[in-house]
Amino acid sequence: MTPPRPPPVPRIGFVSLGCPKALVDSERILTQLRAEGYEVSPTYEGADLVVVNTCGFIDAAVEESLDAIGEALDRNGRVVVTGCLGARREAILERHPKVLGVTGPQAYQDVMAAVHAHVPKPHDPFMDLVPAQGVRLTPRHYAYLKVSEGCDHRCSFCIIPSLRGDLASRPIGDVMQEASRLVKAGVKELLVISQDTSAYGADLRYRLDLWEGRPLKTRFLDLARALGDLGAWVRLHYVYPYPHVDEVLPLMAAGRVLPYLDVPFQHASPRILKLMRRPAHAEDTLARIGRWRDTCPDLVIRSTFIVGFPGETEADFETLLDWLEEARLDRVGCFTYSPVAGAAANALPDPVPAAVAEERQARFMEAAARISAARLAAKVGTTLRVLVDSVGPEGAVARSTGDAPEIDGVVRIDEPGRCQPGDFLDVVVTGSDAYDLSAQRCV
Ligand code: SF4
Repeated sequence: MTPPRPPPVPRIGFVSLGCPKALVDSERILTQLRAEGYEVSPTYEGADLVVVNTCGFIDAAVEESLDAIGEALDRNGRVVVTGCLGARREAILERHPKVLGVTGPQAYQDVMAAVHAHVPKPHDPFMDLVPAQGVRLTPRHYAYLKVSEGCDHRCSFCIIPSLRGDLASRPIGDVMQEASRLVKAGVKELLVISQDTSAYGADLRYRLDLWEGRPLKTRFLDLARALGDLGAWVRLHYVYPYPHVDEVLPLMAAGRVLPYLDVPFQHASPRILKLMRRPAHAEDTLARIGRWRDTCPDLVIRSTFIVGFPGETEADFETLLDWLEEARLDRVGCFTYSPVAGAAANALPDPVPAAVAEERQARFMEAAARISAARLAAKVGTTLRVLVDSVGPEGAVARSTGDAPEIDGVVRIDEPGRCQPGDFLDVVVTGSDAYDLSAQRCV
């Protein structure tokens, strides 16, 4: 007698939109799905249900998310929505009344409950199919490490606090356990993310926690120090120029943490920073950057800026340009102001015409590219340690300690010899342009 066929394994399709923080949420949901024995379907057609993890940061992202939900409904018909846009349930249901469920950001249990309700959990979970580090959407050799959710600031152009709530830090023992598991599974670079990494632990009053029997405080410096002990590259994103950030610079100078800070300055005119209600808007950032570089001369600073914010005059913009010339930041992105539904800045007077904002963006990026080119040219002839991201017929593409994946430049190596993604190589820099370096492998 032929044994009865096992029931088919339920398959879930997954669409992940948005920033690295949303990507980490997607990884957690995917890990949970796999842990419960669901399979992940690479196509809409092969899925029993599709989860769409949305972004609601700016209006363009909202549109992209609503389109993605529409596409999933057309091609599959059974859709659960989660993520930042999930906090605006009405907007989703108005456009797509047929979705099966809507849950907000970081609502892992709610997403799973919606999946269970429509596609029951398989009887026997194949726990051993889940890799020790969980399911990750990044390449094997680097991983994002989310240390907190939400934000206590109320920047006037941003609706993240209303979508994701106030700062909620993960206890340090929890973060370290995840980080250590990732490193044991082969991750070579940890990218620390949150909305404000420098505020880490403030909501928990820097509570003491234990990791491997070691007492650690849930705060920025202790986290940086403990991560630095794991032996992987540690890159700090979304750090504000608060005085206590100075304490992490000696760790960078000592090679424990990468000499890299991603500081979203957004502007330099005190008047505009105040209108933006930016954290640390009263700090003397040029003096602070100077002190950071004195402590750690190799420091690379990345930042993003907004031009054309309501009320920005030519004089404010000139202040920003002068500041940039003096700060000489290494990596810079610049956006024109884009109003977000629900943001306080929408009520500000004196909007800047789009053409003026675009012209300022072009001038800003021209200055930024010139500064970046000069700073990269100074590296020609030096030796760098790089991490290989990919290898192909054209050579290898790698990153130095000054390059975060996806957002910064790369180091191209024509004849890398035998190597694979995730290898560290020592190279001599042979050339540079505005954003990237070329190099030869050291023999
Ligand atoms: S710091 Fe400001 S821009 Fe960043 S998430 Fe918080 S409120 Fe938004």
